[in-house]
Amino acid sequence: MKEICHFLDGKQTTGSSGRFGDVYNPATGQVEAKVPFASADEVDAAVRQAAEAQIGWAQTSPQRRARVLMKFVDLLNRDMDLLATQLSREHGKTLPDARGDIVRGLEVVEFCIGAPHLLKGEFSDSAGRGIDMYSMRQPLGVVAGITPFNFPAMIPMWKFAPALACGNSFILKPSERDPSVPVMLAELLTEAGLPPGALQVVHGDKVAVDALLRHDRVMAIGFVGSTPIAEYIYAQGCAAGKRVQCFGGAKNHMIVMPDADLDLAADALVGAGYGAAGERCMAISVAVPVGQRTADALVERLIPKVESLQVGPYTAGEAIDYGPLVTGAAKERVLSLVESGIEQGAELVVDGRKFSLQGYEDGFFVGPHLFDRVTTSMEIYKEEIFGPVLSTVRAASYEQALGTVMDNQYGNGTAIYTRDGDTARDFAHRINVGMVGVNVPIPVPLAYHTFGGWKKSGFGDLNQHGPDAFRFYTRTKTVTARWPSGIKEGAVLNFPTLS
Ligand code: NAD
Repeated sequence: MKEICHFLDGKQTTGSSGRFGDVYNPATGQVEAKVPFASADEVDAAVRQAAEAQIGWAQTSPQRRARVLMKFVDLLNRDMDLLATQLSREHGKTLPDARGDIVRGLEVVEFCIGAPHLLKGEFSDSAGRGIDMYSMRQPLGVVAGITPFNFPAMIPMWKFAPALACGNSFILKPSERDPSVPVMLAELLTEAGLPPGALQVVHGDKVAVDALLRHDRVMAIGFVGSTPIAEYIYAQGCAAGKRVQCFGGAKNHMIVMPDADLDLAADALVGAGYGAAGERCMAISVAVPVGQRTADALVERLIPKVESLQVGPYTAGEAIDYGPLVTGAAKERVLSLVESGIEQGAELVVDGRKFSLQGYEDGFFVGPHLFDRVTTSMEIYKEEIFGPVLSTVRAASYEQALGTVMDNQYGNGTAIYTRDGDTARDFAHRINVGMVGVNVPIPVPLAYHTFGGWKKSGFGDLNQHGPDAFRFYTRTKTVTARWPSGIKEGAVLNFPTLS
């Protein structure tokens, strides 16, 4: 059985705790490797190495640090197929989707190459007589990231690229379900010239996470994953005096107005609802058509499109629309939520429960499901399903549709499909959701904007990537400097003002 390693001090390092987790190939359902779960002592040793490495890395000029990232981009492109194949093998997503996962991370690395510009401070010449004032952004020290299974390349890069560009060292605790790609990324960064210890990949479970939360040398923690864990890490990290940002789960709605192009909207719903088997935090899981006629016409268009989705292993290539779920437990959970939907009176108009694939009977595949006439009190509406299940909640009016999205506990992404600029503008202004699409189903902001949800989808003041990442991974120091000349005025005991 293959044993995956931690990546410490610039090299692969065997775990010593004696505890391991299973890593599956979700298409076959077979365990392919075991991943070590770090003990608190192993985490402590990793943090100490990172603290040592950070001193020299912070003294390296921002331009030279950016050059390491430039080289890293070249290496990512060189090894794209290798990375994508390994990613699909452990996650289950299709190869084009795996490449998308890597490329959306790579784009943030490219943005971080602009670090010298983003780290420029502020300067006030002659703030008082003979006094200059300047502010500089300095790294925090050792920072950590805890990341989810569903984007094993993109989200680690969203975190470590800006952190490293700012002169921090970084401890990555990736998901234990698809841990190989994060190690491959660390190897490529080392090849690109990152000093040993500046990026440490420590595998593990709650034991490793708690050790990071408790460690007094860890200055900041960035988390992405489910909402209950986001709330736990935010509370514990803040109580320990760390800077913390946590991004949680989602339930993303698409409002479809009566004037929308319904073919366009149906295609958008199929792509955003079933792509990556629905295992995206920006997946659309609820369609909200406005008016009975819109709803009937939309569902009529959706049914044949959903029924014809091709489900299979990544090895089948471009013909496949989506692959298996990540684990058997994820599959069981999705299927039990489907049962609850039926029991609670939703209409299952596309039933994927009997889906089976010859030769892959043990794989974690789930056929596509489409529910109509879902109400907001049903479990399938309230829970984040994270599977290939789209629910339709019919609304009588725009105001009712808007209220449905506003009342939902999550606020990651949302979209509206309409031809009416007035409605779209009203929606974008009033909605209490962090990322909004107008005739765009998955409005993931590009690297130079920031990514973050509202309500139970995001905890903390700053978003991921874009300029916010440079604020999160630095702290500001302001220097007031006087170079006196001429006659000295003697001691001043009052609080100084400029008046
Ligand atoms: P998860 O919460 O199970 O795990 C995320 C990370 O937390 C992993 O590294 C895991 O090892 C760790 N973890 C799990 N249980 C823990 C515990 N009890 N204590 C401490 N650490 C623990 O999430 P997941 O299943 O890997 O990812 C799917 C979830 O992530 C979905 O809810 C999805 O919406 C969310 N997500 C959110 C965003 C976003 O930007 N808002 C992006 C991607 C995924």
